[in-house]
Amino acid sequence: MREDDCIFCKIANGDIPSETLYEDEVFRVIMDLGPASKGHALILPKHHYKDLCELDGETASKVLPLAAKIGNAMKTTLGCAGFNVVQNNGKEAGQTVFHFHVHLIPRYEEGPVMI
Ligand code: 5GP
Ligand code: ZN
Repeated sequence: MREDDCIFCKIANGDIPSETLYEDEVFRVIMDLGPASKGHALILPKHHYKDLCELDGETASKVLPLAAKIGNAMKTTLGCAGFNVVQNNGKEAGQTVFHFHVHLIPRYEEGPVMI
């Protein structure tokens, strides 16, 4: 199900073009418009869920394996040393787009990490 005014519904379902790294029936993985590091990507489900609490179990069970797959690919393609998996729920927690998404943030060197 899509929400009419949701930008990530439109991007995930291809109504708005995006730089897509990966796509299957359930998800689209895109580049973040305001990257926290080089290669910062977002996993978007095609179905609209406001946040983690709305996610159905089957979709939830696929998110971390996909994050691992994309994170591993980042190590090979970008040469990053590691990556953060970040997911915000609620305005107070830093969520700004209210369509569930997971951040994949490549990290290139040791040092303080600001998310
Ligand atoms: P949040 O703060 O909700 O966890 O993360 C939202 C993320 O979406 C931010 O990192 C922001 O840069 C990114 N973003 C917001 N609007 C767009 C957009 O239209 N396209 C893309 N690719 N990223 C977006
Ligand atoms: Zn949506």
